[in-house]
Amino acid sequence: MRMDCHCKRTPCSHLPRAVLKACSFALASVLLLSCFPGCSRKKPEVPAETEAVEEIKRVEDVVLLPASPATGIGRVMPSASREREELVLIDPGHGFDDPGNGDAENSYWLDLPVREREVTMAVSKKLEAELQEQGFRTMMTHDGVNRPEYDWDQNWRFNPDERAAFINYIDPDYMVSIHVNSAASDACGAIVFYNLTSASKWNDWSKPAAEEIADAIDEFVLTSATTRTENETTYLDASHAVTRDTHAAGCLIEMGFATNETDAENMLNEDWQQSMAHAIAVGIARFFDGMEK
Ligand SMILES: [Zn+2]
Repeated sequence: MRMDCHCKRTPCSHLPRAVLKACSFALASVLLLSCFPGCSRKKPEVPAETEAVEEIKRVEDVVLLPASPATGIGRVMPSASREREELVLIDPGHGFDDPGNGDAENSYWLDLPVREREVTMAVSKKLEAELQEQGFRTMMTHDGVNRPEYDWDQNWRFNPDERAAFINYIDPDYMVSIHVNSAASDACGAIVFYNLTSASKWNDWSKPAAEEIADAIDEFVLTSATTRTENETTYLDASHAVTRDTHAAGCLIEMGFATNETDAENMLNEDWQQSMAHAIAVGIARFFDGMEK
């Protein structure tokens, strides 16, 4: 998506474009080879209209495509420690025939063999491991190769509406969709979008969870040695299908702008990706830690 800059501090720093390209190309090559990855709240009652499909929503019973490689897609993955009961569904933005952002005229990835699709998958795979480290059960909406075998209408394209349907089918405790932004301006920085509509049965979770994630990104990503981003993370109410049309609490995170030199470089940096994944996982964990059990 395109939007104006939300930078609150100084403008992002800039490296010579040639350095960026050389560095990014090497990182992109590695990436391409490797991934094509205090308040008190109570969980509300499940609304009556969802009871009819409650039986098939039991995630432990969902059997989808065989997981190969054996992470993520269509399978509930156990947490590292089994400390938590919550299931977090990770949605790597775009994928398959949809490359997402990165081919705009002013994109710093324009001449690189990488687009939003590859970056969201790389961060999502790191996020899955980080969430498991935090004790969550996890699931991926797709792994870039396999789509869930969830074809109720025999017309599976995995567009945002179908992702929303799949998210509702899985009914996770939290959903996080990972994306990369683009703008005509030099806008920069991460934005955590939540959506407050009647579609969500857990609306009261969405904003405070987004705030926790935004704070964690500021804590772990802005201060990372490999990161030169200088703006604060924003969290905003906005309308995206995966948050608007889903019952689960969740957010859509635009990690940075492919059209900003610093963001574009950071998002191809594996250390930065790891920091971002860690921050998102910690933010989600802190949110659930604040809930009344
Ligand atoms: Zn996107």
